[in-house]
Parts: sequence; C-alpha cells; structure tokens
Amino acid sequence: MGAVKIYEVRVRRALAPSALPEYDYSLNPYLGCLHGCLYCYAMDMTRGPPGAMWGRVVYVKVNLLEVLRREAARLKPGVVGMSTITDPYQPPEARYRLARGALEILAEAGFHISIQTKSGLVVRDLDLLARYRHRVDVGVTITTMRDKARILEPLAAHPLARIRAVEKIAAAGVKTWVFLGPVIPGFNDDPSDLREVVEAAHAAGAEVVYDRYRPRPRADATLASTWRKVEATQQWWARTKKTIEQICAEVGARCLDVEKEWRDTKKSKMGHL
Ligand code: SF4
Repeated sequence: MGAVKIYEVRVRRALAPSALPEYDYSLNPYLGCLHGCLYCYAMDMTRGPPGAMWGRVVYVKVNLLEVLRREAARLKPGVVGMSTITDPYQPPEARYRLARGALEILAEAGFHISIQTKSGLVVRDLDLLARYRHRVDVGVTITTMRDKARILEPLAAHPLARIRAVEKIAAAGVKTWVFLGPVIPGFNDDPSDLREVVEAAHAAGAEVVYDRYRPRPRADATLASTWRKVEATQQWWARTKKTIEQICAEVGARCLDVEKEWRDTKKSKMGHL
C-alpha cells in the first residue's frame, strides 16, 4: 500500500438528498475512506482519485460546517445518514472534527442523525451523543469479532475496540445498532462467526442489522485480486439468512434484515417525523 494522501477541498453543498430509502439526506464530511475495506461499495460510487485509489486518497471538505449551518437553517428537518459513502470517524476526523461539528449543527436544528462507523473515535463525541440522545442513533459495523477482520478491513479499528464503543454509547442511553455486514461467503458466514457478533452486540445493548455482500465491479475486482473471488448467490443468502435468524432467536437478540425490515421501521422510529 502506497503513502496516504489527504487533500483539503471546498464544497458548495453539504447535505444531499439520499438515494437510500431510510434517509432523507446524506452527509459525507470526507470523500474516500482511509479504512480501505476491500469490499467497500463506496469505492464504486466515489468519483476521481478517492474512488480510484480507495483507502489511499481522501478529500476533506474543509468548509463543510459553514455550508451546513446555512443549509440546516433553510431545509426541512429529516433523517440524515452520516455517512453513506465514507466513514465519518476515519483518522482525519481526529484533527478536522467535521463529524462532531455536523452532529451539533444538525441536532440543534431538529434533524435526526444516523451515524455509521467502524471507528472507536466516535466515543470522543459521547458528550454530544448523550446530550442529543433523542436525535441520534449510532451504528457500528462489525463483520466478525475475530482478528481476521484485518484481512478485509485493513485500517479500521479492531472489532473489540468497536464493541467497546457500542457498550459505552449504549450505556449513555443512545440507541445503538451493530451492522453485521456485509456477510461474505467464505469470510464471515460460518455460524460460529455470526453467533459471536450477535452475542457481542446483544450483550452490549445494541440491536443487529444485517446485510449480504452486494456485488459491484470495483469491489469485486479488489476482493478477487487481494483476497479471493466472491460469489454470493441467492441460495447461499437464503441459507445464511436463516442461520442468522436462528442464532438471533437463540440469543434473544433483535435482528433486522436491512432490506426487509430495517428500512421500513427506521423512519417510523424517528421521533420528529
Ligand atoms: S469503513 Fe466503511 S466507508 Fe470506509 S472503507 Fe470501510 S466500508 Fe468503506
């Protein structure tokens, strides 16, 4: 892996209408992601160098908060997904604090913020998360509890650090969820692997939202050249989904299929809508 390059850019817009049905808006403080997950669908959706050199080039939207302040005062409050094509708490956030600033601006303006990350840095903002607990939910992605997470998620926090973050945030009374996804054939679809994630999430006080790997050209090619070729068939998913549901029932955990149940329930849970 070559040297990492971080560029500061200026933007004209902060919030974008979301293509995901569970969100009204998406907010991506960065373009590209230094966690560099090999399966990341965002590399197929990100233009320019941050997409082409996934995990090695990141654009930092340095004027994001100034633009967001104006937009938050003008737009109708809704559910904001932070982030949809980058990790808001990836390493540059320690210095730029854009996720933190955005969280405060949006919550003050009456928006609901749904955070998703693989970084323990989110705990830095526990004060804000607790203050606006009725306007935020925090999802932490955990594909496996094992060290092998490093194979496909080379620069993200270790799963144990992630689950500790979930515990702390849940203990502060904030709604938390563990995103068990993507489930990838031959990587994390073994029942014992799945069970470890479900048990850890449940013990930490989070519900589980799960999803399968969805093939995309760049992610497919990256996995094939760096790890192995992935074939996620319908039959495989039907079997694996059944296994997840069974484990959840045995553990007593609340588990939602991102496609079938989570999206339907998400908006109805947001108090302000
Ligand atoms: S942390 Fe999320 S956005 Fe970043 S590379 Fe991994 S999957 Fe993609």
